[in-house]
Amino acid sequence: MKTIGLIGGMSWESTIPYYQIINEAVRDRLGGLHSAKLILHSVEFDEIEKCQTSGNWEKSGKILGHAAQGLEAAGADFILICTNTMHKVAPQVAAMVHVPLLHIADATADALERDGIRRVALLGTKYTMTQDFYKQRLIDRGFEVMIPQEEDIEPINEIIFHQLCMGQIREDSRQLFRRVIDQLKDRGAQAVILGCTEIGMLIQQEHSSLPVYDTTAIHALRAAELALEN
Ligand code: GLU
Repeated sequence: MKTIGLIGGMSWESTIPYYQIINEAVRDRLGGLHSAKLILHSVEFDEIEKCQTSGNWEKSGKILGHAAQGLEAAGADFILICTNTMHKVAPQVAAMVHVPLLHIADATADALERDGIRRVALLGTKYTMTQDFYKQRLIDRGFEVMIPQEEDIEPINEIIFHQLCMGQIREDSRQLFRRVIDQLKDRGAQAVILGCTEIGMLIQQEHSSLPVYDTTAIHALRAAELALEN
């Protein structure tokens, strides 16, 4: 079994499901007392978030790059950045290590492709929804990517950072997400990517009129698969 390196803590709320999903997948595959070989570097999220708001991606890239180097030195065979947004610095992080980085958008694109989805809605932080680093990777794979209308971008971002990343689940926020998903469906989306690792805390399949692609589960399951591949 390969050793998985996780760069987590962004937020730590969403690192918990990563740990659980990976271990459950290994247990389900191998049975008995089997569990994942895994190393976690959990960052101080306040530092990372300050880099985001000040636009200092270079600095946050270095922090995550050093975390990746530590994981590599400790024996990780491949590395995951446990957030969609911070994949903005994925190229910088990947360049600082020799082991591969399992990109969250690639794992998600593989899952969508398997199900024959082409026109997909993307929910996430304002960085993920409005900038190119994530969307373009999906577009390059042949997907049409739709985001919510302008007036919903900031409220969604607020819910992520000021509620979900602090472990708060509110019914009014769930209603807002449901409305946004309904609108994206009306505009022609075939499925919705929960492109922020905390959204799965608020929205599960039963809350969505579109098929849900939860990047946390997809990324974590792909990691478990990769760890068990020969
Ligand atoms: N975990 C979130 C994501 O997947 C947002 C937190 C962050 O900015 O990293 O994008």
